Amino acid sequence: MKYISTRGQAPDLTFEEAMLTGLARDGGLYVPETVPTMSAEDIAALGGLSYEETAFRVMRPFIGGAFEDGELRAIISRAYEGFEHAARAPLVQLEPNHFLLELFHGPTLAFKDFAMQLIGQLFQASLTRSGNRVTIVGATSGDTGSAAIEAFAGLDNVDVFILFPDGKVSEVQRRQMTTPDAENVHAIALDGNFDDCQARLKDMFNDHDFRDEVGLAGVNSINWARVLAQVVYYFSSAVSLGAPHRKVSFTVPTGNFGDIFAGYIAQKMGLPIERLIIATNQNDILHRCLTTGEYRTDKVTPSISPSMDIQVSSNFERVLFDVYDRDGSAVSQLMDELKSGGFTVSQGALERLRETFDSGRASEEETSATIAHQREVTGELLCPHSAVGVKVAEELRDPAVPMITLATAHPAKFPDAVEAAAGTRPGLPPFLQSLYDREERVTKAGNDLAALQSLIRERRRT
Ligand SMILES: *Cc1c(COP(=O)(O)O)cnc(C)c1O
Repeated sequence: MKYISTRGQAPDLTFEEAMLTGLARDGGLYVPETVPTMSAEDIAALGGLSYEETAFRVMRPFIGGAFEDGELRAIISRAYEGFEHAARAPLVQLEPNHFLLELFHGPTLAFKDFAMQLIGQLFQASLTRSGNRVTIVGATSGDTGSAAIEAFAGLDNVDVFILFPDGKVSEVQRRQMTTPDAENVHAIALDGNFDDCQARLKDMFNDHDFRDEVGLAGVNSINWARVLAQVVYYFSSAVSLGAPHRKVSFTVPTGNFGDIFAGYIAQKMGLPIERLIIATNQNDILHRCLTTGEYRTDKVTPSISPSMDIQVSSNFERVLFDVYDRDGSAVSQLMDELKSGGFTVSQGALERLRETFDSGRASEEETSATIAHQREVTGELLCPHSAVGVKVAEELRDPAVPMITLATAHPAKFPDAVEAAAGTRPGLPPFLQSLYDREERVTKAGNDLAALQSLIRERRRT
């Protein structure tokens, strides 16, 4: 299985190389050259299997020869053993034909754990074998950072630097990043917003001398291995509701387009998905793009769903690559135009996007009202991101097709917003209750590439 860049100018890589690299050297994102498919019988055979065995069968064809079957099974099993729920990704019913997929039972209480715990194990296996070291730098709007720190803390061959927007993540999110005491993890509070963090990260990858000097590796949602890990729960949940014999739809609270892109891959693999609905908060560039064809960045407006306060959805490039017939130079040109504010999606490409995707947006008031309403009628306490999803799903879903809305984080990660909306303060699960007593360790930094690079050179172990 070969991986190619969406901009067509970087070398083809194996799964393992693409995973260790993150961003392609031409600035593009790696995608599989062809997407392997599963037949209806293969999909039906997933019925009743454990989450881990489903993960093995769905991911195996993408991984090629990098890991043997027994090794891959062991890696998957270690990745999910720290989850608090035996089903890993349980489904809860909200109303007739509307289901919530709870993806927040991992160690940092957000869906990011599904991918990050897995790639932590994959990195460790791969680096132990090669004896190489890497420096992981990540940008986070809150949840990726804590999931990465949790997954990579204490590993010998890895140093981790996480850039988060200072003052723009919740207290629980911040403490999850600043309280682990492993020597190889560093939380950096950057003076800027998430898009600034992501832009500095991309600058580091595009500085090839620096990239090679420190062995830069990326674990943001642009990392293909993360997308792949997320494909699994589309299969597990759809099969529980009758796939492949019955179609289902998904609504996905979306920021960087990684999670919903995994749904798109599941569909390309043969999972019968009727619609994929993009749900955004007031930072609605994707909803505007699907509606008008204009992909234009705007100011980021902080919301009660901070993990979706994003105006440049990196993984959108991957789907653009497909709807532009895998023309890397066309994608490069769009990304150049984006640097000066935005681009217009061609009519043909827009029509192809609309064959699969719908989109909707929830305002702050609608999000809070949804949290309150669900608490009242189902007893389910939603985090603000999941509430954005539920609101948009209710608006757009076809009552005849089962709708699965992804619940992306535990309400206790956002206790202030949830309490303000529902009048109940969600408590942290017992294993996280010491979070408020632990000492914080954080480095403040300006929005400045050279300064960040010196900090990384200084702190990383060699
Ligand atoms: C990261 C995140 C999202 C957005 O996911 P993308 O893959 O970036 O679209 C939504 N909700 C929560 C809680 C998150 O942590």
